[in-house]
Amino acid sequence: MILVEEKRDHRTSTQCSCGGTADLRTGSHVFNIGQKKITLQNVPHFYCEYCEKAIFGPGIDPTSILRYAYLHNLSRIDWNKRDSYL
Ligand SMILES: [Zn+2]
Repeated sequence: MILVEEKRDHRTSTQCSCGGTADLRTGSHVFNIGQKKITLQNVPHFYCEYCEKAIFGPGIDPTSILRYAYLHNLSRIDWNKRDSYL
C-alpha cells in the first residue's frame, strides 16, 4: 500500500504582482473599507514590502470578518476569534 502524503501549502513566500517577493507573516493588516479603516489582527498573509501589499493565500478569506467588523462599527477585529463572530 502506497501512502500518498497530502500536499499542503507550505510556502513561506509568494510572488507579488509587482514582481517582488511577498513573505509569509502573521500580524495586523489595515483595510480601508469605504470611509473606515479596519485593522485585522493576527491574520496570516503574504506581505510585499516593495508595494506594501498584502496577499491572502488559500483558506484565508478576510471578506466575511471584515464585513462583520464594518457592520458592527469595529475599528479592529481579531482573526483568531473569527469563529465567535461568524
Ligand atoms: Zn509588491
